[in-house]
Amino acid sequence: MKRILVLGCTGSIGTSTLEIVRNMGDDFQICGLTAHSNKERLSALTTEFNCKSVLTSENNPDAIKNLLEETKPDIVVNGIAGAAGLLPSKTVLDAGINLALANKETVVMAWPLIKQLAEKNNAAVIPVDSEHSAIFNLVHQVNQKNVDKIIITASGGPFRTFTREQLENVTVEQALNHPTWKMGRKITIDSASLANKGLEVIEAVRLFDISADDIQVVVHPQSLIHSLVRTKDGMLYAQISDPDMKHPIFSALTWPENKETYLSPFDLFDSTMTFFRPRINDFPMLGYAFEAAKKSKSYTIAYNAANEEAVAAFLDKKTGFTAIPRIVRSVLDKDWTYEPRSFDDVFEQDKKARKLAQEMI
Ligand code: NDP
Ligand code: MG
Repeated sequence: MKRILVLGCTGSIGTSTLEIVRNMGDDFQICGLTAHSNKERLSALTTEFNCKSVLTSENNPDAIKNLLEETKPDIVVNGIAGAAGLLPSKTVLDAGINLALANKETVVMAWPLIKQLAEKNNAAVIPVDSEHSAIFNLVHQVNQKNVDKIIITASGGPFRTFTREQLENVTVEQALNHPTWKMGRKITIDSASLANKGLEVIEAVRLFDISADDIQVVVHPQSLIHSLVRTKDGMLYAQISDPDMKHPIFSALTWPENKETYLSPFDLFDSTMTFFRPRINDFPMLGYAFEAAKKSKSYTIAYNAANEEAVAAFLDKKTGFTAIPRIVRSVLDKDWTYEPRSFDDVFEQDKKARKLAQEMI
């Protein structure tokens, strides 16, 4: 019986995780839960799972540490949205506990520090992001030394076929209407602008220690193939399932075992798979991410922070959709050559980028 603690249990990732535990009661037990603003839901879930819980925010940094000490989980799922998920990841790894990581910002902002901490405390970081879960599993199967290229699939989002002119006038409601995935608001906007794919390119460069030049993004609107690995002998290996985050979460929770799932297997019959090149000129956030991944240092922190501010402004209807890449571009054009040596350094760069983005907004 694995003891699971869920950070961000009221969100999309958190909800899928709890759904798995409801169906796999003999294998998993929820020992702790956190949320941020949704007190009522947290309280209902705490009663349902008969566990400890706490409301967390940047203002109570010890809350998660204390909860970990009280509940002693075997694995923690980090489903917190945005940069707010970074310190919780650090806290989990500080305690030497395995981390099932959906919060991609942790990797984008501070991977070198996170990796060092995980190694020092002998804790595993298991990716939950569907593309990275796919690559993680594929790389283990084909062996890292044989990997030549990583091919990350993208749904293309709701505006895949929109012209540049149409993109100028899209509304928040249209951007929130994702064709294949049901997710939180921020990541849904990122999927529409391809910033999510951009963050995922950076995430892949770091998690799999591969050059950005060896990563390719392919638009695959059905979201059935979650990513592919090309081996040096020219073979392509793909991971396929229905687009449901419960698959990668299940895989992370059961890792390193390959347990039988209760989720329905994918049926190849009557399915169609198509592939397109990403329109990088019309969706500049993807190109900027490749640039930030190559420059590294504080560029990826700036990319993430400026995008978070721009997306929040778009959701508040203070800016248009195409202002998002313009804001991020202007922030990336500043000097981000400082190499962060501590988490404090990371947050300093994050703050600087947010301030610049706010000035632009
Ligand atoms: P949601 O917005 O649905 O949920 C976010 C969760 O984080 C909620 O439980 C929320 O609590 C909590 N939270 C929000 N702000 C804070 C804060 N300042 N401090 C602590 N907790 C906070 O997000 P998603 O589930 O969509 O995404 C979570 C992470 O997973 C993101 O990094 C995203 O990129 C990644 N991810 C998500 C996927 C998906 O399918 N949703 C797919 C792949 C990756 P409350 O509700 O109480 O406010
Ligand atoms: Mg993803």
